[in-house]
Amino acid sequence: QAKLNARGSLRFFSPEMSRRARQRLALEADLRRALDEDELELHYQPQVDLASGRIVGLEALVRWNRPEHGLVAPDAFIPFAEENGMIVRIGAWVLRKACMQFRHWLDEGLGPQRIAVNISAIELSRGTLMRAVDEALEHSGIDSSQLELEITETFVIADREQSFRSIDALKAVGARFSIDDFGTGYSSLAYLQQLAADKLKVDMSFVRDITTNAGNASIVKAIVAVGHSLGLEIVAEGVETQEQALALRALGCDAIQGYLVSRPLPAAAMGEFLANYESLRLPS
Ligand code: C2E
Ligand code: MG
Ligand code: MG
Ligand code: MG
Repeated sequence: QAKLNARGSLRFFSPEMSRRARQRLALEADLRRALDEDELELHYQPQVDLASGRIVGLEALVRWNRPEHGLVAPDAFIPFAEENGMIVRIGAWVLRKACMQFRHWLDEGLGPQRIAVNISAIELSRGTLMRAVDEALEHSGIDSSQLELEITETFVIADREQSFRSIDALKAVGARFSIDDFGTGYSSLAYLQQLAADKLKVDMSFVRDITTNAGNASIVKAIVAVGHSLGLEIVAEGVETQEQALALRALGCDAIQGYLVSRPLPAAAMGEFLANYESLRLPS
């Protein structure tokens, strides 16, 4: 069975292949429509400073409200969008939406210091990010220092030269960088210095059993030491319990993010959360 797709190329299906291939084609077609039909939405999760208990930032996390599938998590469509290049449009949409929402909260007197947006390595290596950031900042009127771009260590796998050019250009206009999922990739410490990021996010795999696994506690301690000596702020991800928060504070982490404070929430619910938030109190 051969089928002509939208680009006019032939696709062949063997019976075994056909199910998966058809699923992919459907996903691709649906995802193309998702942007036009306004099916993407952002949820927001707070980052809390451990010393003051205050919310210092919000991370925007994308979801896809896919008809007949419900709310689809980013891991189920972002990698695919990276493969076929759709990530460039999705990324631009996320930046604009997140900055506009943040601006709205600032206007209501609810806004914390920063809005963090996840950036794909593909966007960096294509050199399209600068324009998307410019547009989002201009449109929302927020200051570049209020925007934090989260990149994972694996960004170096893509076009290194172009990626560093993009990062340098964005830093030059004042955007901040944060390294996501730190400790799981395989970049060297030299990259850390070269990147001159502002923040390190300790991956949640180290946080999960931090109170019982001495090895993980040692790793976090080492990350904090290296990070602080390079002038980076250290945020721990995936913090679900008070015990974890206490252990992380004792190890020198500056801030936490995770279900302990709040799950990622849709904009309206996060607005209410911000309006009613009283600082996180941990026993001393
Ligand atoms: P990430 O940036 O490392 O985001 C953290 C993930 O951990 C989020 O999953 C969040 O919902 C989840 N999380 C937060 N607190 C806790 C906790 O206490 N316990 C547990 N078990 N999980 C927690 P989510 O929203 O499914 O996002 C997954 C990944 O998808 C993100 O990882 C990020 O790499 C990517 N992503 C999300 N939004 C975007 C986007 O707009 N653009 C791009 N390029 N990637 C995105
Ligand atoms: Mg992130
Ligand atoms: Mg992460
Ligand atoms: Mg991640």
